[in-house]
Amino acid sequence: VPISNIRNFCIIAHIDHGKSTLADKLLQLTGTVDKRDMKEQFLDNMDLERERGITIKLQAARMRYVMDNEPYCLNLIDTPGHVDFSYEVSRSLAACEGALLVVDASQGVEAQTLANVYLALENNLEIIPVLNKIDLPGAESNRVIQEIEEIIGLDCRGAIQCSAKEGVGITEILDAIVTRIPPPQDTAAMPFRALIFDSYYDPYRGVIVYFRVTDGTIRKGDRIYFMASKKEYYADEIGVLSPGQMQVDKLYAGEVGYLAASIRSVADARVGDTITHFGRRADKSLPGYEEATPMVFCGLFPVDADQFGELRDALEKLQLNDAALNFEPETSSAMGFGFRCGFLGLLHMEIVQERLEREYNLKLITTAPSVVYRVNCVNGDTVECSNPSALSDPGKRKSIEEPYVKIEMITPKDYIGSLMELAQDRRGLFKEMKFITENRASIVYELPLAEMVGDFFDQLKSKSKGYASMEYSFVGYRESELIKLDIQINGELVEPLATIVHRDKAYAVGRALTQKLKELIPRHMFKVPIQACIGAKVIASESLSAIRKDVLSKCYGGDITRKKKLLRKQAEGKKRMKSIGRVEVPQEAFMAVLRLE
Ligand code: GDP
Ligand code: MG
Repeated sequence: VPISNIRNFCIIAHIDHGKSTLADKLLQLTGTVDKRDMKEQFLDNMDLERERGITIKLQAARMRYVMDNEPYCLNLIDTPGHVDFSYEVSRSLAACEGALLVVDASQGVEAQTLANVYLALENNLEIIPVLNKIDLPGAESNRVIQEIEEIIGLDCRGAIQCSAKEGVGITEILDAIVTRIPPPQDTAAMPFRALIFDSYYDPYRGVIVYFRVTDGTIRKGDRIYFMASKKEYYADEIGVLSPGQMQVDKLYAGEVGYLAASIRSVADARVGDTITHFGRRADKSLPGYEEATPMVFCGLFPVDADQFGELRDALEKLQLNDAALNFEPETSSAMGFGFRCGFLGLLHMEIVQERLEREYNLKLITTAPSVVYRVNCVNGDTVECSNPSALSDPGKRKSIEEPYVKIEMITPKDYIGSLMELAQDRRGLFKEMKFITENRASIVYELPLAEMVGDFFDQLKSKSKGYASMEYSFVGYRESELIKLDIQINGELVEPLATIVHRDKAYAVGRALTQKLKELIPRHMFKVPIQACIGAKVIASESLSAIRKDVLSKCYGGDITRKKKLLRKQAEGKKRMKSIGRVEVPQEAFMAVLRLE
């Protein structure tokens, strides 16, 4: 089709508002995917994603649609649905001219809706509001339209009402994509430039790069150059996504496609990088490229020291497919050999941990995540510290800075008070509150990222009975009164339990943490003291009393099956224990600091 008949678009939505269901229906109605081949939610194809109901990696699909006897080529570029991946969201939006803004008509605008809309507006996209789930008895399209107009300032006269589930309104959406989203600009005569919006590692063909041709043309076999990674390759294979890969010989400005060029790691073909011709290079790369910056770090240690090599191999393999994953060896006297790993955020961290355990069969002890602190030293240097146990002595440092985030919470008005309390309790600075409608408000705070790592989101959900949503973005580093809190178990310093806390909270955290550890660590044959210290000073202490040998027979009397069950349970629990000196410490203890009341 001519470039004037191409439309590149994406779908933005808050989680569960129906993005995947709508994408499936668009693919079905355009005959792109046969109903028989249709696995539920074609676009979310990683198991983990499906289980968690989130889209982690973006994918793309090309559809053919005929309107008024004219054939059109519609490229749908999917976006990940989590704030950890907002850079990738912004790059896939940059590959489009328009976006469908899907809002659940029974719920309304949520925090993620807003975060995504802001990104779409930054990329100058034409936005088509779509109210989904109008089949639900609780759907209130008019109220939601008013919300969109008021907080986003979007003209909703052309909003489309649909039910992705029941297939209502889908043709209207396809027609709107054609009539309202502008075609790409015709820049086929310019030197070749393409924007990478996704890439993944295929063990047989190397990295598969998904891109949008911004200017010029690429032919199969062309010698190409990646402007950020400065690597050169031959484009052995190029093609389109329909949605399976289909080889073609040429791709022109405005088109979306993939290429394979025996690229060995996704780090060489990063999202946001610009591809150009090796011989006829573009003068400038496309805007918006950023290096991945890990925001949270944690230690990963194999329970069984023999698995260290396997863990390293597994991390190397995952890294081939994940340019944002960062790791280096870490040795601790308490934990033995392991790795300090950096992640974009908490979800990214959980995904990697889960894959290591599921796909590589590793048994790991994970230490509590830490943010990256900036330590201003007395000698004038500034060093980064992502491992609390490695924080330099108080005498050597002038000040510590920590990362702050801006959070936006959207909540029914009944929970405003408890959410503000939550944010204040986490050292939050109140910024602004707006009523979106009579009954719902948006509350903005700035708070330390360290206070959000852990159970903040769970607390938000439980304090709002599940009704509030939130998003956050990094706003910069700020100086805080921070100190290191150490934990000693049975007289031994346990480095992975060290944490950096605000001075005002140190005593409370010390007390709560020692109490929590006392609950979590099983009793031993001897008494085990658990202490929290600042430097050499003990600020809180608890002790686990010794267990008597005959306790099992005493507790369970003659009931042999129950006793066996208990022993089996203990044996299973053991798999996740790390010996610290003579004391067995379970996995949960290493995370205890995240869940202090
Ligand atoms: P995503 O997280 O935005 O990708 O949302 P999904 O497409 O996974 O949908 C979330 C849930 O809403 C699923 O249980 C869908 O079956 C349901 N859903 C999606 N669209 C509709 C709709 O139009 N009507 C109703 N009643 N449910 C829908
Ligand atoms: Mg989805």
